[in-house]
Amino acid sequence: EIPTNYLLVEAKNVRPLLKPRKLFTGKRDYGSVLLFSGSIGMMGAAVLSARACLRSGAGLVTVHSARIGMPVVQTAVPEAMFEPDRNENYITDMGVHHTHQAVVAGPGIGTNDRTVDALEELLKTTKSPLVLDADALNCIARRPQLLTNLPSYTIITPHIGEFDRLFGEHNNSEDRLKKAIEMAKYHNIIIVLKGHYTATVRPTGRVYFNSTGNPGMATAGSGDVLTGVIAAFLAQGYRPEHAATLGVYIHGLAGDMAVKEIGEYGLVSSDIANYCGRAIRAII
Ligand code: AMP
Ligand code: MG
Repeated sequence: EIPTNYLLVEAKNVRPLLKPRKLFTGKRDYGSVLLFSGSIGMMGAAVLSARACLRSGAGLVTVHSARIGMPVVQTAVPEAMFEPDRNENYITDMGVHHTHQAVVAGPGIGTNDRTVDALEELLKTTKSPLVLDADALNCIARRPQLLTNLPSYTIITPHIGEFDRLFGEHNNSEDRLKKAIEMAKYHNIIIVLKGHYTATVRPTGRVYFNSTGNPGMATAGSGDVLTGVIAAFLAQGYRPEHAATLGVYIHGLAGDMAVKEIGEYGLVSSDIANYCGRAIRAII
């Protein structure tokens, strides 16, 4: 008997979700993304997320980061805008001052106390759909009561280590998946549990296993790229459940396309980001 709460996501499931771009449109129709990402020594995370987000169709991308990141981000990703934090080295303020269709926090932000405070403020005030990844999840793990502040339909994208820091140690993937189902239902959030066959768990408890991706993607920054892709779909008006499943599929497909050219040893996260547009074109 095949449990109906477990689904495998393939091209045929993803294709009908993708909306073609209209002729008479402008960038405002494809949404604005605000990325709280990067800190001293980890500015590449902001670059990778922003690049992947733009390559996945977002209309506008703004990076909010530590002041030292400004020349890095503005040079590496000229299409993105930059909003400097008051602090030189890390993020101390996650105020959202303009309308954004998606807000991301996490890649490379570190877990400084003042960053945790800023994240707490963001969780309590934002009205935009949220994606939380990486150090945002580590910040929450340091202050677990923040879990109760997660807005409904927030997308979190932990790898196994981040998941266990948030929800407790697990000895095997079956127990971990059971916990993810329980937590997605309890907190009314979407949990993207990353790995080979990434599992996207919806608030209903349904699990969507991804079919794309390869071991070449086990490389620094790969997850930061995924975060940008998911945010791009959110910004373009896809429902959070769809943005998560689509983002995971496209990210894996971009990795599969890039690996054909570059190989599993040589693949780096910039390659995955640069292939996102081609991955979308391949299935639309
Ligand atoms: P992170 O650990 O945050 O950099 O995220 C790694 C990303 O790469 C996730 O999206 C994983 O699903 C993906 N990834 C890593 N290793 C593999 C693998 N062996 N097969 C498929 N995807 C992978
Ligand atoms: Mg990561």
